[in-house]
Amino acid sequence: MNYRHGFHAGNHADVLKHVIVLMLLEALKAKPSPFFVLDTHAGRGRYLLGGEQSQRTGEAATGILRLAAHKGLPAPLKAYLQAVKAGNPVDALLAYPGSPMLVAQALREGDRLAACELQAEEAQALKALFTGDAKVAVHARDGYGAIKALLPPRVGQDRFARGLVLIDPPYEAQQDEYPLVRDAVAECLQRWPGAMVAVWYPIKQRRTLQPFYRRVASLPAKGVLAAELLVHPDDSPLRLNGSGMLLFNPPWQLDQALAPVLKALDAALGEPGASHLLTWLRPPV
Ligand code: SAM
Repeated sequence: MNYRHGFHAGNHADVLKHVIVLMLLEALKAKPSPFFVLDTHAGRGRYLLGGEQSQRTGEAATGILRLAAHKGLPAPLKAYLQAVKAGNPVDALLAYPGSPMLVAQALREGDRLAACELQAEEAQALKALFTGDAKVAVHARDGYGAIKALLPPRVGQDRFARGLVLIDPPYEAQQDEYPLVRDAVAECLQRWPGAMVAVWYPIKQRRTLQPFYRRVASLPAKGVLAAELLVHPDDSPLRLNGSGMLLFNPPWQLDQALAPVLKALDAALGEPGASHLLTWLRPPV
């Protein structure tokens, strides 16, 4: 396991993923009953943008730092920027929050987060970040196995009818990850049918993803929405040209809320030949 998210924190893919995660959390917060979030591949939770890993790739410069300089953004992007800035001094973006941090910031009194991270050092850093936070449980374990162990969610006497599973693996062994992801989503939907499931995936060349799209479209969800941002044309298999989020059981009218967000991200972060796509792989029922 060589992957370290510190090299990529705050890049265009993180921006897309985290904006959408916050939109899903907002939809959950529209109802008073508590919800549960399982983050299967959580990372270390907070990344220093001036740190060695981040500086080596410079990826945040064309992601969060570029977006933060934009004015007139749609409301969900403004809310995302506010959430990112929450852990920073007033005038500087020194640290970038990972998914468990963004989720934890959004939790209300009864809501809970379980965050899994397999890499020992990353898991240790994540545990340190949430020491003393009773709403967050950090598990140094395989996130796929956690789906079986933790779903449907129960915390003490509490059961959670609503919530979100975020599946955000590193896709290190490229082709091997897709069947794992598909099976993981199937397991989530079977164990916790009311949950939303969000899956991040990298895009080098879109056409190579067609079999994956077909396989996930057949899963028993009330709608499967794909939201993609390609900051480069998808004509090179060698670089990360963009990424997408698959959304199973997405909230009502999320597609309408997402359309202007993707358009604004394309305009703010896209290089020549950039594009975005919002499509139902399985229409809502
Ligand atoms: N979700 C994080 C965020 O948005 O801030 C980023 C996660 S990063 C893309 C993927 C993480 O998964 C890495 O920290 C890696 O160490 C971890 N990882 C890899 N395989 C794993 C597994 N089977 N279970 C849990 N974590 C895993």
